[in-house]
Amino acid sequence: MFELRCISCGQSYSNDVVIFNCSCGGLLEVLIDINKISVKKRDLSRRPLGVWRYKEFLPIDPDDHIISLKEGGTPLYRGRNIGRMVGLTELFIKNEGGNPTGSFKDRGMTVGVTKALHFGSKFVCCASTGNTSASLAAYAAKAGIKCIVLLPSGNIALGKLAQAILHGALVVEIKGNFDVALNLIRKASKDLNLYLLNSINPWRLEGQKTEAFEILEQLDYNVPNTVLVPMGNCGNISAIWKGFKEFYEIGFINKLPRMIGIQAEGASPVVEAFKNGREDIIPINYPNTIATAIKIGSPVNAPKALQAIKESKGLIESVNDNEIMKAQKLLARFEGVGVEPASAASLAGVIKLCKLGIVKEDERVVCITTGHAMKDPEMIFNNYEKTIEIEPRIEDLRKILKT
Ligand SMILES: *Cc1c(COP(=O)(O)O)cnc(C)c1O
Ligand SMILES: [Zn+2]
Repeated sequence: MFELRCISCGQSYSNDVVIFNCSCGGLLEVLIDINKISVKKRDLSRRPLGVWRYKEFLPIDPDDHIISLKEGGTPLYRGRNIGRMVGLTELFIKNEGGNPTGSFKDRGMTVGVTKALHFGSKFVCCASTGNTSASLAAYAAKAGIKCIVLLPSGNIALGKLAQAILHGALVVEIKGNFDVALNLIRKASKDLNLYLLNSINPWRLEGQKTEAFEILEQLDYNVPNTVLVPMGNCGNISAIWKGFKEFYEIGFINKLPRMIGIQAEGASPVVEAFKNGREDIIPINYPNTIATAIKIGSPVNAPKALQAIKESKGLIESVNDNEIMKAQKLLARFEGVGVEPASAASLAGVIKLCKLGIVKEDERVVCITTGHAMKDPEMIFNNYEKTIEIEPRIEDLRKILKT
């Protein structure tokens, strides 16, 4: 029913070996035989919304013990207020902050950790800018296995760090940025026999493709014209595109959206490659942005993302930290949706592209917001209004209300 295939040379591998790269160095993708899936739209709609609603599309053996925290099933909001402000009649927000640990990573981890048990692993690991570690720590706890996470020292949002500690992961800070931490854990996972759950792991991305399935069902199969995704390591946009393609292949939809990837200006090597028509990425040694979840200089899944952009006739754009913060504020104050900075990159991107006339007024647009506001409280304290302290007197309150 499923196997692994190299996206560069096409070499296929059995689904029962632990492998993350083709012998040619290429990235691996899970190949599902869509023709063998007989589930109907109606069957799906009767099940609870969430990752496992789509079990026929997920590469799991019948006797696998599924590790789930009931991930997915996140809300799709109609963003009427912001839509009106930016001139979009159909703007939607798919809020992945609604997942158990507050980011879309949970969709990947439910499949990834289930797979880790399938392979008999007792120890899982990842490098992380924060959310991957928070998620993996929780799923490892649920599975009863050990977890080690490598984080870039001093560069991790407080909420995420707290989660990894709370769920009992062995938390190690690396003197270096995310890319350095990822290189180390990739080597260590081989040498020390730890099961790696970064997005280089093709099974994890299978869980994340359910974002696309849910969007389509939540829109009653009215396919969006454009889907915007914040890009860090570029796994998520690749996974979402794969999901759209699979529902197309099985005949649930008869057209596909275009995918737009958004990077932060200080961490935008894929934007550079895209705009210069290159397929190779020139890594950025010192990525810099307030959006720590996408502060990545050398995205491992860039080839998959570039393929998704090409196939969907989409594009990649960057936004600066100011634009990100403005979008975060709009979501919070005009839609009631609290997101962390990286998440707001998708909305910042659509605002920029509307102004440039690249996204048009009558398009059905979905912005993925990837993580919850409470992930990064420090950023909020540092950039928003200060609180006011007064004596407990009504006159003092009146004075404040007048200003
Ligand atoms: C992981 C993450 C991203 C980046 O996703 P990639 O798959 O690495 O491109 C964006 N936003 C948030 C909140 C994340 O946790
Ligand atoms: Zn290959």
